[in-house]
Amino acid sequence: MGRSARKICWQSLRNGSGNSPPQDNVEGRSHRAFHIIIMANLINIDEHDTWKVQDATKLQAYMNCPRRYFFEYVLGWRSEIPNNHLEFGTAWHMAMEVFYEKGVSLESAAEGYKKFEEYYREQFDETWDEGNAPKNPGNALRALAQYVQTYQDLDDFEVLHIEVAGSVAIAPNKPIYFKTDTICRDDSGVFSLEHKTGSYFNTKWAAQWRQKMQVSVYSHVLFCLFEPDEVYGVKINGVFFANPPKYKANGEPYANSRDNEFHRVPVRKNIAAMQAWLVEVTRWYDMIQDDFNRLLSAKEEDEVLEAFPRNTESCTQYGPCPFLDYCSIWNNPIQYADSPPIGYRVEHWDPRKIPGVRETVEL
Ligand code: SF4
Repeated sequence: MGRSARKICWQSLRNGSGNSPPQDNVEGRSHRAFHIIIMANLINIDEHDTWKVQDATKLQAYMNCPRRYFFEYVLGWRSEIPNNHLEFGTAWHMAMEVFYEKGVSLESAAEGYKKFEEYYREQFDETWDEGNAPKNPGNALRALAQYVQTYQDLDDFEVLHIEVAGSVAIAPNKPIYFKTDTICRDDSGVFSLEHKTGSYFNTKWAAQWRQKMQVSVYSHVLFCLFEPDEVYGVKINGVFFANPPKYKANGEPYANSRDNEFHRVPVRKNIAAMQAWLVEVTRWYDMIQDDFNRLLSAKEEDEVLEAFPRNTESCTQYGPCPFLDYCSIWNNPIQYADSPPIGYRVEHWDPRKIPGVRETVEL
């Protein structure tokens, strides 16, 4: 990065100074937090390099349900059906990148749309557009023009960095991997502007960011890169997609008709909040390691898998869990781990391989 990275990180935040010198032993370069031994007993599970890599997505998944983490990130089972919300969100990020590199303007919107379309059409051809509405290319184009109208005059901040990725230590040899969208500076301080796409804006959506793991990771990165008193925090840059509103003959929109919406949610953390987060995230990190250790002593013939326990309160939290049919009858899923169920493939999420990264740091 153009600016030299300040590695105050975990230790100075823990002792509250925020000004300690760089800690040579916290760079996370050795990345030895997860000592996963060759799993002699688990002959039907291939050990994977990504088991040693944790990021906010994986930590959140583990916090929601350790057994689902096992299915998705230990076995690497993914649905073969592409997920429009995910792919649309990735394509939208590509368009946003143009705005914050070249300025929020109609010219950037046109260039951003080309990048959007190029990526999106690799995932979904035109036959999907109607079913994927309102998250489809036609509506993305409309939303990009509306984004310019909304933010062209408001976004007067300086953009310092775009698409920065890497790892940040939370304790010695305990790195968390991350990617931030845009690091900016204005009179309020340095902030991370993170693009999110949604379907409905409501208070629940806005409230979720206050304590979200992802936001704490972004904040930790900012506190490691800048002086604590320079850091403003994180701003969630939400865009909510709706089909074009329908109008009556007199030009008035029908009741309850919605249009695309744009909402930003600021989240600020002070040093005390970050100290508390470091303690808690380290605990979660260690719990994942403990579950890998339990997996080491598990056997196919065991009646029950103790590692990565089921959190049965999460099965229907965001719609039915995709693994519910299997999970509810497999008391020891390693007996079925040879190959994924029909409709699934093996693909391990690896935050070190996110496309479009421009700068890489180890903090
Ligand atoms: S069905 Fe429930 S317990 Fe099983 S993996 Fe899904 S969320 Fe976890």
